[in-house]
Amino acid sequence: MTSPVRVRFAPSPTGYLHVGGARTALFNWLVARRLGGVYVLRLEDTDTERNTDASVRTIYDGLRWLGLDPDEGPEQGGPKGPYRQSERDELYRGLADELLVRGGVYPCFCTKERLASVREKQIADRVTQRYDGLCRAVSREDAEARVKNGEPFTLRLKVPEGETVLPDLIRGEVRVKNEDIEDIILVRTGGAVVYNLAVVFDDHHMGVTHVIRGEDHLTNTFKQLCIYDAMGWTRPVFAHLPLILAPAGEGKLSKRKHPEAALEWYQRKGYPPEALLNWICLLGWSFDDKTEIMTREEMVERFSIDRVVKSGARLNLEKLDWMSGDYIRRMPLDRVVREITPYLVEAGFVASPPTADEATKIHAVAVAEQGRLRCFSQITELAGWVFAKTVAYEAKAAANLKKRPDTADLLRRYAAALPEPLFADGKALEAWARDWATASGLGFGDLVHPVRAALTGRAQGPGLFEVHLILGHATCVARLSSGAGAAAS
Ligand code: GLU
Repeated sequence: MTSPVRVRFAPSPTGYLHVGGARTALFNWLVARRLGGVYVLRLEDTDTERNTDASVRTIYDGLRWLGLDPDEGPEQGGPKGPYRQSERDELYRGLADELLVRGGVYPCFCTKERLASVREKQIADRVTQRYDGLCRAVSREDAEARVKNGEPFTLRLKVPEGETVLPDLIRGEVRVKNEDIEDIILVRTGGAVVYNLAVVFDDHHMGVTHVIRGEDHLTNTFKQLCIYDAMGWTRPVFAHLPLILAPAGEGKLSKRKHPEAALEWYQRKGYPPEALLNWICLLGWSFDDKTEIMTREEMVERFSIDRVVKSGARLNLEKLDWMSGDYIRRMPLDRVVREITPYLVEAGFVASPPTADEATKIHAVAVAEQGRLRCFSQITELAGWVFAKTVAYEAKAAANLKKRPDTADLLRRYAAALPEPLFADGKALEAWARDWATASGLGFGDLVHPVRAALTGRAQGPGLFEVHLILGHATCVARLSSGAGAAAS
């Protein structure tokens, strides 16, 4: 390859970063890192009604969170800027003349009314709706005279005869008959350039060598290829990534129906970004059909476009949970503490910043739950019982309090006997409890089920003696007494 590889991620800031967009960014980043190239971020933000600063921020934040900061972009700057289309108007200005000189376009004088009536007739005839090419037949002299006369016109792409062939790195050779490509408007009345022309101009002038983007752009690609040819510009290499499908056989993933289409959903749930990146990398790509867990460095080392599949990639959230759980288990404990704390603050379980006593509890909870967590927000559901002012009993726990008629008495006696302070280690406490049960003429199971129910309100959870240590003596006694009340009621 003679020129250095330059790739780009070109999102439209319309409110959120789609998980498919995050994958596009990742694959572009991987190609750049692997081939020593440059990865550019270009914001396609010309739709002023839908584009807001907040959605631009969402894109920057999402990419930063995943560690996919661009080499060149609106924030970073670079030699091919500006990197927001809304700031490139000046550069597009000469384009209409250049197109006319090259002859790949023709002026179209059709009024809105005429276009509407053509469309209506096509709908009635049940044929494809598209421009019927009337102004192609206007002679050069006539066109020039009409332009000089001040008649409003647009510039339309003059799609040539024949067919357009796209050599796609993923899909192989894709061919389209040119009669199926519309003579689209490239420059509107008044001189504004349309999206497809701006993309081609930007990719060309930004030196983009490889366009790697979603398959939903395939129809645009054929129009864009015609534009490259009309301008006499070298076409970049294209790779169209497979669609991302909804989790359960419901077709395409859409934001309206699936909240998990947005990267923010994963951020809010608190999936570790490195786990998410690993999972996203496997949406339509695999290294060898068995390797799942990969570091960022391994992804760079192993990634190649030719192992991207053609068929749609289904979003598998169970796999994400499994993968994320694996990452969380291998993480240093202090990171788990740091990551779960904001969720506990948000739920109102602890103060911000947590008091010393709360911090001790958070630490203990992190130790107890690290192995079970799939994402950090789950801590409020797994460990809400630790911080709750009063214990709510789940059905099974309530049943465990009622199993034997003497449970209330048992819980009261156990509370009175509980050593104060508690032994520092769960094993020693368990040994003590076993002796106490034997001395009271009870089986160990008769003791642990109601005690767990009283302390946590649940039938399951971390080791029961860890639970004692997490709560501390005073809270254990208070909860055993409330549990006794519930058992007797
Ligand atoms: N702006 C387009 C989008 O957000 C992407 C265009 C492209 O990659 O060429 O879908």
